[in-house]
Amino acid sequence: MLGEIRGEVRFKEPLSFHTSLRIGGSADIFVVPQDVDDIRHALLFAEREQLPVVVIGGGNNLLVRDRGVRGVVLKLEGCLGRSEFHGEEAVAGAGASLSALIREGAALNLGGLECLVGIPATIGGALAMNAGTPDGCIGDFVSAAYFLYPDGTLGEFKPNAGAFTYRAFHFPAGTVLIGCRLRLHRRPLSEIQKDIKQRLKHKKSSQPLALASAGCVWKNPSGETAARMIEKVGLKGKRFNGAEISAKHANFIVNRGGASATDVQALMELTRERVQAHYGIVLENEIRIIGE
Ligand SMILES: Cc1cc2nc3c(=O)[nH]c(=O)nc-3n(C[C@H](O)[C@H](O)[C@H](O)COP(=O)(O)OP(=O)(O)OC[C@H]3O[C@@H](n4cnc5c(N)ncnc54)[C@H](O)[C@@H]3O)c2cc1C
Repeated sequence: MLGEIRGEVRFKEPLSFHTSLRIGGSADIFVVPQDVDDIRHALLFAEREQLPVVVIGGGNNLLVRDRGVRGVVLKLEGCLGRSEFHGEEAVAGAGASLSALIREGAALNLGGLECLVGIPATIGGALAMNAGTPDGCIGDFVSAAYFLYPDGTLGEFKPNAGAFTYRAFHFPAGTVLIGCRLRLHRRPLSEIQKDIKQRLKHKKSSQPLALASAGCVWKNPSGETAARMIEKVGLKGKRFNGAEISAKHANFIVNRGGASATDVQALMELTRERVQAHYGIVLENEIRIIGE
């Protein structure tokens, strides 16, 4: 079944090549599918061999542990990578880039997603994470999501209230998101561009974008920001080997070179303990941790 895949199949592929943190051990079997049939072949292979499957998009929200991932890693970035526009609706494939979608919509005077600008993501990863900012999340725009069950059959999900919550999408477990429909609205390109420019300027001034990271490590507890709490407990700039709690934004951990997942997890452990001791609040992970 692996032999039927027209995309790429690699063995012992270092996942540090596929994560924005540049950290992570190898995937036993790494598949870059070319189309939906390839995804089906990979899923059926995994089911037959009883191997676990992990789906990744751009790897921008992932910490992969140092001993890597057993089973099959499906990397969807670029696969199903197109977006189409019909009236005020976008139909986007899971491997399409979120920023390309925003740009292409803007060129057609279609806006709405400006609040998501600057978030590095595939559409699949943005959906799974309900990526967003205080001004809005992708879930606010989704009218339907499409996915494959482990047996390769197609499913459609019309999100109801509660389907998208803070940095989570409650789609059927074990399925692979393959695309979605998004509601946009008419807005002049010049207005969209002005809005985008301001948002990117703010992001650049407040986040350590020049260094490898996975964005915010922690979810913000209600009424507080994790960054402020971490700063208050004196951990801004704290380092373990190559991993550092960013001196620019304390909710980011950056890889200054040669950091391991163990280093990042040691910083996370320390942060969780200090914040709990000081505030009585247990921080929850925003980044997803996979592997052994
Ligand atoms: C510099 C920087 C800034 C960031 N700023 C923000 C921000 O402002 N707001 C924000 O919300 N996030 C932010 N992030 C985090 C990240 O960009 C988002 O979480 C994004 O949605 C991740 O998309 P991805 O394609 O890289 O997903 P990945 O990191 O590859 O995967 C994330 C999760 O989604 C799952 N997944 C991915 N694709 C699929 C699929 N097709 N089917 C099923 N599950 C899937 C994965 O299994 C994993 O659990 C930032 C990250 C960086 C590096």
